[in-house]
Amino acid sequence: MASTTNHAEPRVVVIGAGIAGLAAAVVLAARGLDVTVLERAAAPGGKMREVAVGDARIDGGPTVFTMRWVFEELFAEAGASLDEHVGLRPVSVLARHAWGERERLDLFADIGASADAIGRFAGAAEARGYRDFCERARKIYRTLEGPFIRAARPTPLSLAAGAGLRGLTDMWGVSPFATLWKELGKHFRDARLRQLFGRYATYCGSSPFQAPATLMLVAHVEQAGVWLVDGGMHRLALALAGLAEAKGARFRYGAEVREIEAQGGRVSGVVLRSGERIGAEAVIANADLGALAGGLLGAAAQGAVERPAAERSLSAMTWCMEAKASGFPLARHTVFFSRDYEAEFRDIFGRGRLPAEPTVYVCAQDRDDAGAGPDGPERLLVLTNAPALGDRRAFTAEETASCERNSFDLLRRCGLQMEKGATVLTTPLGFERLFPATGGALYGRALHGWASSFGRPGAATRLPGLFLAGGNVHPGPGVPMAAMSGRLAAAQLIGHLDSTARSRRTAMPGGMSTR
Ligand SMILES: Cc1cc2nc3c(=O)[nH]c(=O)nc-3n(C[C@H](O)[C@H](O)[C@H](O)COP(=O)(O)OP(=O)(O)OC[C@H]3O[C@@H](n4cnc5c(N)ncnc54)[C@H](O)[C@@H]3O)c2cc1C
Repeated sequence: MASTTNHAEPRVVVIGAGIAGLAAAVVLAARGLDVTVLERAAAPGGKMREVAVGDARIDGGPTVFTMRWVFEELFAEAGASLDEHVGLRPVSVLARHAWGERERLDLFADIGASADAIGRFAGAAEARGYRDFCERARKIYRTLEGPFIRAARPTPLSLAAGAGLRGLTDMWGVSPFATLWKELGKHFRDARLRQLFGRYATYCGSSPFQAPATLMLVAHVEQAGVWLVDGGMHRLALALAGLAEAKGARFRYGAEVREIEAQGGRVSGVVLRSGERIGAEAVIANADLGALAGGLLGAAAQGAVERPAAERSLSAMTWCMEAKASGFPLARHTVFFSRDYEAEFRDIFGRGRLPAEPTVYVCAQDRDDAGAGPDGPERLLVLTNAPALGDRRAFTAEETASCERNSFDLLRRCGLQMEKGATVLTTPLGFERLFPATGGALYGRALHGWASSFGRPGAATRLPGLFLAGGNVHPGPGVPMAAMSGRLAAAQLIGHLDSTARSRRTAMPGGMSTR
């Protein structure tokens, strides 16, 4: 049944309580709009989820918190303070990297400390290359923050205008169309360092061999600060949901939207799987763009968006586990590298299969910045990149077992012994079930090719009143970027409602209602 309540404020529905949906809900509720968030899962956070493993709760999604200014601004927009809602501690060790039992390199928040470590690891020339690389990454970030990250829907032309010639020269140096891998070759001769910094492409779910060199900016983002969230990343989602609720938003969990409805050429509400209909003057869809384009949310939504053309980003095999770890000094974040990085990405993107020799990321969630952790079992997230084929096929038991063997063999080769306890494995199929129409892709579409950053849609759609927010919308994936997209969607929605109200007032001179 359609809601018949006589609302004083326009009604907004947010589909999905992922980080973008939450950010949008905070902004809209703080502006006094009547906000209902409908989430199919039992809790907020989306990919920023907590996995129950025995009695433990383990962060099964993002583990690296960066760009805290995005959240400071977001909380401030709602008259609140990030620090009062979420406990954050800066780290000094960004990550430990291992290629074998004796080949280890730590990167630090302090550039000088990292340069010294690189000097000891690979020589003085590489340390100088690293400093040049940091400077270049800084310039790229500075150039892009205003005209790209904060802009509603940048194009190459608007970016050029916003950045200015100086900015573009700083950013691109000599080769605007180069891949990240190729550009890294100008800074590092040591293949291990190229691999380490090439891995930043995977933060956007992409291959360093195809991603644009501008992704160097990720290095600067980390350098500018990585924080540990007290209680785990999922606390951030809970804090945002709490803030939105405090501002008046309603949250309904276990509420799956099956259709976005339109009347008279504009959004009119949503229909839940249960058949319940909820009227709304505007809707923000934090569901995957592929779900809208594929018709999972009805014909009106399907007609409102373009089908994404670019290939899907990476998926993952993740093991959330309790384990006793020994023999290797795990840091909070440790990366164990494969011997052939190119083959790994060829397997995933070229051949559509699990990598024969994966790179493995381990997040030791009970360890502090100094790497100190419990004596007994500890909570670990172990992650290996995988192709996003979850909607096309399930990996066979044999494929899954071989991926697990290869991943944990690499850890053993690097000296890490594990006595595994309870474990929850999530495959691309598992991620597809959690996030329909993604195939298990965790970062929207891959950024392959220099123009790929401009291929993502902005928040506005062809259907008035329907807006998009999430990691596959501009400015892209990752917790802060997705939050940014939620803020951008909320701002556009507010502009839309203002202009609709103005045009109705104009159409009804002396009229009594603007709704
Ligand atoms: C294993 C893993 C590791 C990662 N590591 C990092 C990291 O270290 N740092 C980082 O910054 N990022 C990381 N990311 C990426 C980051 O988590 C995502 O980019 C970001 O959380 C995506 O947010 P989103 O707003 O797009 O929404 P999503 O998280 O995709 O949430 C969308 C929500 O919409 C809901 N929904 C979908 N359809 C419907 C429907 N029809 N009705 C109702 N609800 C619906 C879903 O249930 C979900 O809750 C990682 C992701 C994963 C999975």
